[in-house]
Amino acid sequence: MSANIIDGKQLSASIKEQLTAEIAQLKGRGIAVRLATILVGADAGSTVYAQSQAKTSAAIGIDHVLVHIDGSAGQAALETKIQELNSDPTVSGIMISMPLPKRYDAGRAQNLISPMKDVEGTGAANLGAIFQGDFTMAPCTAAAAYKCIHSQPALAVKGAEVVIVGRSTIVGKPLAMMLVQDHATVTVCHTATKDMIAHCRRADILVAAAGKANLITVEYVRPGAVVIDVGINRVNVTDASGAVKAKTVGDVDYDSVSNAASWITPVPGGVGPVTVAMLLNNTVQAAKKLKVKS
Ligand code: NAD
Repeated sequence: MSANIIDGKQLSASIKEQLTAEIAQLKGRGIAVRLATILVGADAGSTVYAQSQAKTSAAIGIDHVLVHIDGSAGQAALETKIQELNSDPTVSGIMISMPLPKRYDAGRAQNLISPMKDVEGTGAANLGAIFQGDFTMAPCTAAAAYKCIHSQPALAVKGAEVVIVGRSTIVGKPLAMMLVQDHATVTVCHTATKDMIAHCRRADILVAAAGKANLITVEYVRPGAVVIDVGINRVNVTDASGAVKAKTVGDVDYDSVSNAASWITPVPGGVGPVTVAMLLNNTVQAAKKLKVKS
């Protein structure tokens, strides 16, 4: 059996199409949809991420502002900038490009962003809202995995056994609460879990979010299960000519697992593109709530 593909690129494109129309409508009503990305220092990954945010935002009509802070400025300068953006009536969404330089406290900075403008959904208030059943500003990656599961009407969540491998604050924990709210029975596995295969093999829906290339092999998967691969890992592979090349893979051994699963998200092209779309979606939801005049 070869699994059906949950196509993240297609799903992302359709979300962006809807958002483009919504943004045009909001702007027509004089409501600003403006995302500020704070970039601290010059870390290459962080810079690429911020630049990519600028590009994807502009492509659907979101105004994007890159706020650059010198790497040596310090935590207090970062916090002052966050407070300024919180009270800036022209800004509807704020995000911090990660990773921050070492001596910055990312969690403290994230919690300072006004919950209304916290479009990454990683501040304590928005995480807490998930416990109350409000997913409006859920962390983008958890929201993307959730969206992938719900993108297929044939996939029943109510009553399903869901197993999530990974308990991070941006993926495993919030996703577990979201699926419990949808009446699934959820198990969260982590590095101290005993007999992980036994847990995973019970899953109707198995979510891999550990950050370990090819951790989930076919032995972990009940035939017919739905497999959502959140992992993004760079590995070296040797091609037929003996050349070593870097490749992006997920946490799931795709070749073997796709022969056992009923549905699967590929990597790349699965949860990743939907995560980007969910950030844009959160930005639009924030703008709608704030109704900031442009
Ligand atoms: P993290 O390191 O914060 O958390 C990983 C979790 O997995 C931890 O809870 C840990 O206990 C668990 N874990 C690690 N190894 C394990 C093992 N061998 N067995 C069982 N549990 C194990 O990582 P994160 O930020 O949650 O990211 C997880 C993965 O998702 C990474 O590959 C990351 O690159 C990827 N990611 C993808 C997107 C996307 O858009 N698709 C976005 C963010 C992160």
